[in-house]
Amino acid sequence: MGMDVFGKAPTSKEGEYFRNNVWWWRPLADICVALAPEICAECEHWQSNDGDGLKESSAMALAAVLDARLADGTVAKLVADRDAWLAALPDEPCDLCQGKGVRSDELAIKNGWDKKPCNACEGKGTVRPWETRYQQDEENVREFANFLKASGGFSIC
Ligand SMILES: [Zn+2]
Repeated sequence: MGMDVFGKAPTSKEGEYFRNNVWWWRPLADICVALAPEICAECEHWQSNDGDGLKESSAMALAAVLDARLADGTVAKLVADRDAWLAALPDEPCDLCQGKGVRSDELAIKNGWDKKPCNACEGKGTVRPWETRYQQDEENVREFANFLKASGGFSIC
């Protein structure tokens, strides 16, 4: 699943289209809302593809905030804090093998997978928590800011 973000009146190639899969889009939208809550309030549905978005003046204003926060290190700190928080999350028991490292569900037995290490955790019995799939970096925020500046407003589809 992904988010396709379309420029409403692009002024360059860069402003036509921005795409993130859901693992990248969710933290990106969180950063936008955290750094510019008043501007971002105009868009109600950041986390679904309902065609919601921002008008041109708001997209420009959000780009300006993102550029300023990229320049002063705020975005880098948000990303680093988030990465540190994720890294500190403990492993969780693997659901597929109930933490045993080998699957014993019906489908696994039928396919002979019960003779092999669990395909979800590679036999460790633990997996990284779900939240660690959501990723973000400064470069993605910068690319989104550049899209915003040339988008003429946008819709999330
Ligand atoms: Zn497993």
